[in-house]
Amino acid sequence: MTALLHAESLRKSYQVGRRSLFRKARRFNAVDGVSLTLERGETLGIVGESGCGKSTLSRLVLGLSPCDEGGVVFDGTPLPGQDTEAWRRLRRRVQLIYQDAAGALDPRQTIRTQIEEPLRIHGLPLERAQKAMADVGLVPAMGSRHPFELSGGQLQRVVIARALTLNPDLIVMDEPVSALDVSIQAQIVNLIQDLQRDRGLAYLFVTHDLSVLRHVSDRVAVMYLGEVVEEAPRDAFFDGALHPYARALLEAVPVPDPARRSRAAPRIGDPPNPAAPPPACRFHPRCPFATDVCRAERPALRDFGGRRAACHRVEELSQ
Ligand code: SF4
Ligand code: MG
Repeated sequence: MTALLHAESLRKSYQVGRRSLFRKARRFNAVDGVSLTLERGETLGIVGESGCGKSTLSRLVLGLSPCDEGGVVFDGTPLPGQDTEAWRRLRRRVQLIYQDAAGALDPRQTIRTQIEEPLRIHGLPLERAQKAMADVGLVPAMGSRHPFELSGGQLQRVVIARALTLNPDLIVMDEPVSALDVSIQAQIVNLIQDLQRDRGLAYLFVTHDLSVLRHVSDRVAVMYLGEVVEEAPRDAFFDGALHPYARALLEAVPVPDPARRSRAAPRIGDPPNPAAPPPACRFHPRCPFATDVCRAERPALRDFGGRRAACHRVEELSQ
């Protein structure tokens, strides 16, 4: 069976600074040669620090911004170019949810009107909104309220309900719980998982928070300055990452096990400017294991028995 989503060698650059008569504008690759595959009903978690390109990647995958190179195939069909009818059909199957639920909603319109909106656009029965509200745990009376009358967790439920009305196959979630209190986060994470089980949804789940990914993801991809540096099944990853950057991220996650807590979190310093990534291995200025080859050659993403890592020294370091 074909994968639900396959992205191949995506590249996207942005201009930094202004162009002048004397100076060409500088460009940097926010996403630099990223490939990924997502199966039906699966959650691929994408993790990295801010500026690593994970939000840009999610926009490329959704076709919300065009890539400079590479391409995305959704359910066997390449993302359409300018064909608006093809886009409309695709839009029903792929939805986006992001961190700022309040910003995604119109303050002047009722909750029900906004949950029904995609149904109106696509000419589908409005009754579906009722079911979507029930599925996310919103009582019908909520429908007549306005966004300012709802809590952050309730607003995120509204946004999820609105995405569900079209029965999508894939929801791209960009930091969906990062703005919420920890106790509310857990509720929304559980909801997201229940919906996946009931509806067979696939998620591309973008976050900087590994403890959330540990709950939701089947596979994890780690991004660093526009590149995927490691990709692995969830359990294998949390049992021990291969890439030094991924290891550093894992070490920095607070763990309830006191035996592990005593281990000092590695100090890798602040992330470099994403607009001016270091050459060769982009992690080398922060990597405690960097050698000459790391400063000279860009490491390829290599396969290590069902997982991939982009580091020259994986073999040595995992001994
Ligand atoms: Fe560190 Fe070298 Fe591996 Fe880069 S390639 S992560 S600098 S050991
Ligand atoms: Mg982001």
